[in-house]
Amino acid sequence: MSDPLLPAFLGGLPVRPEGPPAWPFSDADVQAALAAAVASGAWGQYHGEHVCALEAELAVFHDVPHAITCASGTLAVEAALRALRVGPGDEVVMAAYDYESNFLTVHAIGAKPVLIDIHPDTWQLDPSQLEAAFTLQTKAVICSHLHGGVVPMRLVMEIAHRHNVGVVEDAAQAPGATVDGKPAGTWGDVGTLSFGGSKLLTAGRGGALLFSDPQLHQRAKLWLHRGLQQWAPLSELQAAALLPQLRNLPAMTAKRAENMRELAVMRSRDPEGSVCGALPFGSRLRDTVAAFYKLGFHFDPTAFGLTRELFVKAMRAEGVAFDAGFKALHVGRSPSRFRAVGDLPNATAAHERCIILHHPVLALSRPDVQQVADAIAKVYRYRDMFAERPPSTRG
Ligand SMILES: *Cc1c(COP(=O)(O)O)cnc(C)c1O
Repeated sequence: MSDPLLPAFLGGLPVRPEGPPAWPFSDADVQAALAAAVASGAWGQYHGEHVCALEAELAVFHDVPHAITCASGTLAVEAALRALRVGPGDEVVMAAYDYESNFLTVHAIGAKPVLIDIHPDTWQLDPSQLEAAFTLQTKAVICSHLHGGVVPMRLVMEIAHRHNVGVVEDAAQAPGATVDGKPAGTWGDVGTLSFGGSKLLTAGRGGALLFSDPQLHQRAKLWLHRGLQQWAPLSELQAAALLPQLRNLPAMTAKRAENMRELAVMRSRDPEGSVCGALPFGSRLRDTVAAFYKLGFHFDPTAFGLTRELFVKAMRAEGVAFDAGFKALHVGRSPSRFRAVGDLPNATAAHERCIILHHPVLALSRPDVQQVADAIAKVYRYRDMFAERPPSTRG
């Protein structure tokens, strides 16, 4: 029988035997809302009250005049680009480390992605790279707030507007966050949200757009409609499920932020805290209320003594939902598919070293968060027993 104290990956007992919490949590308010939508007949209607109510509440929540719901966050980004009149031959600037579907959406409308580097500390789009990317073909910038970090939107808007370039602010991972005193998704000319199955606000599928400008709102609305009907809408039942979640979002955001801070404190108290690479992205932000969809960390394989792949596997075996971050958009893709501004070293580093913790555990209690810290510390303690080592520490 092997030592129960060993990492679960090496035959010991897991820190969290029940595994990562499933998402979404069971929610009595959502169940009541769905039951009421079934009882009233709204479940089978084109135009019940729920979609309208959700659009109205999204606008109030974000303090903007207009919100439109639609079938997905990906579609919302496309509608946003089309509202900004991006089309064939245009260029769209985005971070080389971003959600892949944003890159593919730019291609889908016949435009070309122009990839800029991310900031070396925050691993978010770096506004200081924007001006070098702009040409006469540049029509728009896509900014995504990722992994609990936020893009400095005030600066992005100043630079983009000086060059007459539109901005799509993708807040799919940051509903309820505040950037420099304003809700995430309301800085850009168009803001977008996702209600996909893993997201903080979920209906399994769904998305939304936020606007201050009535003309952009009108253009997106026209493009999303074919006659009276939207052709890829949110359903009444999806909207019914989302309404109570939106009302509960500030409380959930506060809870996740508090647990993130606890985790950062626990990590910094650990003797090996510094070598885990690992203060979460959101822990250094000021004037900002972050939202935590996936919580990103800079992982340093050499300092930790394990490859990222092995670290993730070891954490999963402990019952803690760490994953590798996104693949950078310029890696392993034909250079004919994009234009790169510079060598993109920080996006390459994020491609190789970003790890992300899935959010559900952050909405539980302190002992659950302590398990995350304990699992990291345990795997670190036994790092020498893992056979596979990063090249620089192989000896
Ligand atoms: C999830 C996500 C989207 C798109 O969401 P879907 O609703 O799944 O299409 C867009 N951008 C970012 C950053 C995301 O995380």
